[in-house]
Amino acid sequence: MRTRFRGVTSREGFLVRGASGWGEFSPFPEYGPRECARWWAACYEAAEIGWPPPVRDRVPVNVTVPAVGPDEAARIAAEGECGTAKVKVAEKGQEPTEDIARVAAVRAAMGSGGRVRIDANGGWDVDTALRMLRALRRFDVEYVEQPCASLEELAQVRRRQDVPVAADESIRRAKDPMAVRAAEAADIVVLKVQPLGGVRAALEVAHACGLPVVVSSAVETSVGLAAGVALAAALPELPYACGLATMGLLTADVCAEPLVAVDGALAVRRPAVDPEHLARVEIDAAGWRERALAAQHAWDLG
Ligand SMILES: [Mg+2]
Repeated sequence: MRTRFRGVTSREGFLVRGASGWGEFSPFPEYGPRECARWWAACYEAAEIGWPPPVRDRVPVNVTVPAVGPDEAARIAAEGECGTAKVKVAEKGQEPTEDIARVAAVRAAMGSGGRVRIDANGGWDVDTALRMLRALRRFDVEYVEQPCASLEELAQVRRRQDVPVAADESIRRAKDPMAVRAAEAADIVVLKVQPLGGVRAALEVAHACGLPVVVSSAVETSVGLAAGVALAAALPELPYACGLATMGLLTADVCAEPLVAVDGALAVRRPAVDPEHLARVEIDAAGWRERALAAQHAWDLG
C-alpha cells in the first residue's frame, strides 16, 4: 500500500480462477471464518457464477482527499479529475479549523459544478457533528458519511440538520442496511460487495433497503474492484459517484490494465489477470488456501 490503512502497510488476498473468470477473496487479517464466509461467497460468485447484466457502461467515482493540509487537499482534488471529491474530516488530533480549511480548499478546487462530500468515519459525537455541519454547509456538502458511530447518533444528526447522512461503518453485514432504514438513521447507504456476500446479495440488500446506494471498495486489486463495478453497473439507479477509485492506494495490481478512473469514471469491464503482473506480487498461498477452505466451510454451514 502507498500509505498505512487499517494499521497495515500491505494488502493480501487470494485469487481464484473458475468457469466465469477470476474472483478475489481478501478479508482483513482479523476476520475469522464466520465473518469471512460472505467474502468467500462473493469470490465464488465472481469465479463460478458471474454477475447480472449491467444497465450502464460507466460508473462515476469520487477522488478521496485524506486529512492533509489545505494546499495538498486542493492539489489532490484537482489532480483526481473526478466530478466528486470525498474529504476526510474528524481526524484524531486535528482541530475543527483544519477540517474547515480543507473542505474550503477542496470546494474551491472542484469549482461550482463539482460535488464535495465529507467522511467523518464515525469520529464525531452528535453535538460536534451538528456544530461542524453548520460550519461546513456553506461549502454545499453533498452528504456526510458516518458523522457518528452509532445508529442512534446518526438518526439524531439526520433529524436535526438538513445535510444528507450516509451510513458506511454501520453497514458490515446484510441485515445492517435494514436496521439503518428502520432507525431512520441515513438517507444513503454505502455498500461493499465482499462483506455482503457478492453482487447479487448486495443487489438484494439494496432493493430491500430502498435507499440510494454508493458502492465502495474494500481496497482490492482490479479483480475485486470489478465486482464493485458490476454492482454499481447493475443498480437500477446510481445517483451518486462511487468509492471505487482505490487502485491508486496500492503500489501494484495483478492486471495489466488496472481499473482506474478515466474522466471521473470507471469503465464497466472485467480486466484479465496478467501472469507477469501476478508473479511480481505473488506470495505463498498455503495460509490463504486454509482460510478460504474455512470460510467455505462456514458458508456451507450457513
Ligand atoms: Mg467511509
